[in-house]
Amino acid sequence: MNAKILEIENLTVSFDGFKALNRLNFSMDTGELRVIIGPNGAGKTTFLDIITGKVKPTEGQVRFKGRNLRSYSEHKIARLGVGRKFQTPRVYLNLTPRENLELACNPRKTVFKTLFRRTPALERQTVKELLETIGLSAKADLKANLLSHGEKQWLEIGMLVAQSPDLLLVDEPVAGLTDEETYRTGELLVALSKSHSVIVIEHDMEFVRQIARKVTVLHEGSVLFEGNIEQVQSDPRVIEVYLGQEIESEDDLPSATAFSISPSLTP
Ligand code: ADP
Ligand code: MG
Repeated sequence: MNAKILEIENLTVSFDGFKALNRLNFSMDTGELRVIIGPNGAGKTTFLDIITGKVKPTEGQVRFKGRNLRSYSEHKIARLGVGRKFQTPRVYLNLTPRENLELACNPRKTVFKTLFRRTPALERQTVKELLETIGLSAKADLKANLLSHGEKQWLEIGMLVAQSPDLLLVDEPVAGLTDEETYRTGELLVALSKSHSVIVIEHDMEFVRQIARKVTVLHEGSVLFEGNIEQVQSDPRVIEVYLGQEIESEDDLPSATAFSISPSLTP
């Protein structure tokens, strides 16, 4: 097994001459939980788009499990073991969590078969374990439209895990969640990181402190800083980037507040 799940070298992505990512270098060990932060427009979403193959590099390369992804389609990259959780949950609201997970375990299965065919014992067991992992056993047989926003997020994370990806990409998983849901999402991601490599993009600094081991700070398409959360919060360049953002976006106070990093953030 390759010790590095992801190696990105000298990566540039240009959109009509504008460099959303600019000579970015990044690597991550197999089994690592990495948090990526950075102000708006830093290139975080583009970074995920590159890993999933939605966007192709203008220059540089991305290696996943040692394989250069340049010639692979988005679909093929997903099959190689990259799973992505988008910001808005994409679950079947008229199915139950159990049915959603059964579908996710077996992508060739149709909604019709999920509802009308007996589920094999092994799959039933897998789904039962997934329901426990995501904390939805008690609500397994309620229609998903009755779940809270947080519960839908967990269900979607469960559906992603059902496809057994090696690398989980999670974009802003706690946006719009309650404090309690945010905390439980952190616990879930930490638990999943015991058996998967995970990249989490997040703005909520309290959440980042809860889950973060190693943090990568992106700024203007490059890595500005990497270190543990204490190092990140006391680095003068990082503070400057975030304070700059706060001043620029005075009309957008909630997100500016969410972004702000102060070196004295101890609660
Ligand atoms: P973040 O997720 O960190 O907020 P993004 O990766 O979404 O940042 O965007 C980085 C920069 O690239 C932004 O300035 C954005 O406007 C620009 N950008 C992203 N996608 C495109 C695109 N398809 N075409 C042109 N510019 C883009
Ligand atoms: Mg983004």
